[in-house]
Amino acid sequence: TEACLGAIEAASALNAFVHKTPESALEQAKAADARIKAGETDDLLGIPLGIKDLYCTLDEPSQAASRILDGFRPKYESTVTSQLKVGGAVSLGKLNMDEFAMGSSNETSVYGPAVNPWKIDDRELTPGGSSGGSASAVAASLCLGATGTDTGGSIRQPAAFTGITGLKPTYGRCSRWGIIAFASSLDQAGPMAKDVRDCAIMLNGMAGYDPLDSTSAEVDLPDFEAALTGDIRGKTIGIPREYRMEGMPEEIEALWAEGRKMLEDAGAKVVDISLPHTKYALPTYYVIAPAEASSNLARYDGVRFGHRAKLAQGDGIVDMYEKTRAEGFGAEVQRRVMVGTYVLSAGFYDAYYNRARKVRTLIKKDFEDVFADGVDAILTPATPSAAFGLGEMVNADPVQMYLNDVFTVTVNLAGLPGISVPAGQDRQGLPLGLQLIGRPWEEGDLLNTAYALE
Ligand code: GLN
Repeated sequence: TEACLGAIEAASALNAFVHKTPESALEQAKAADARIKAGETDDLLGIPLGIKDLYCTLDEPSQAASRILDGFRPKYESTVTSQLKVGGAVSLGKLNMDEFAMGSSNETSVYGPAVNPWKIDDRELTPGGSSGGSASAVAASLCLGATGTDTGGSIRQPAAFTGITGLKPTYGRCSRWGIIAFASSLDQAGPMAKDVRDCAIMLNGMAGYDPLDSTSAEVDLPDFEAALTGDIRGKTIGIPREYRMEGMPEEIEALWAEGRKMLEDAGAKVVDISLPHTKYALPTYYVIAPAEASSNLARYDGVRFGHRAKLAQGDGIVDMYEKTRAEGFGAEVQRRVMVGTYVLSAGFYDAYYNRARKVRTLIKKDFEDVFADGVDAILTPATPSAAFGLGEMVNADPVQMYLNDVFTVTVNLAGLPGISVPAGQDRQGLPLGLQLIGRPWEEGDLLNTAYALE
């Protein structure tokens, strides 16, 4: 913990930690030491972690990197962070992210962008998003692991951009209680760490049924670390042809082929598969996610939480809402709320939202079909490119940024587990990730397959 606290101070230019709790961290570390001396052996005891700002932590700023939650200090702790703390993990503080987890570059944060520890010459790169602070902090060894959340790729894409490992568990595996909601049918908490084993250990601490989250699943909770045997002989891995995008950089193609070979060498059978509705995934996601976001974000009204605009003489309650939300939400969040309310409005509900929900079912069925045919996991690139420069995308058309999620959003729409593992470099030496998608509730198997790629 002391080493991490020192590293955090030395790396303040990364803007990864947005709220630091060094005194409390040292106290937690001492308490963990005492438990170890008393003979306890939990793997998480004394392990210093960073917590994404989307998680509510008791009496600490928990702002989802938004101005609208200025000054909000929850009187409760999220289930996931509370489980990690009970397990003996040490929290070093809160990590930077895109505002309300909307973005792929950590540039919509009220705290300013987090910076990728990887650089090309002097050019600063994004660590990806929305869990950009988590990725940057783990990659720079400011903490041994970090919590992330993944609604459309926000764990896997930043993991790929920073050369670390990130797992999005099956929807319902980790409790969403106390995690600030973005799109409730897609949001899922997950671990980000240096390697597969650390992710397995963290998932052991984070997962579990929680009666406080109605979508939390009452399913078996195996020991995920014990699943790491390294033996994947006889497993069937699918390569979906629809993920071979036109204009995909050669180095991504090469990485994918390399991953295929590694799995074959480890004794898996690799087959070509089809997920025919893949091309509809991005538009479907960018209808459903904003729709749910517009509903979830309606609660930020200037009354119940955080920021309230200064009002003029004669302003009424509607002025208060309007001014507060105009000041409190950044441009991307406002765009999502507008898109979301549009697709949910009476005249357009069937044409957009309901249509998207139907297509979502088809996307999910594509996966069910290949799993029913005996495929155990699916191998794809994690992202269509390596990390891009700060400012490069955020100043372009927003759709350019959305296109970055092309390989990751299908997993959330289908509720499946997905993992990104560092698997190579582009020609400039920047890290690239491969994604493995698994059967629902088979994170152990998925982690073990990912382990074979390390
Ligand atoms: N980039 C996606 C979005 O902006 C994913 C975000 C996420 O997974 N939280 O919606």
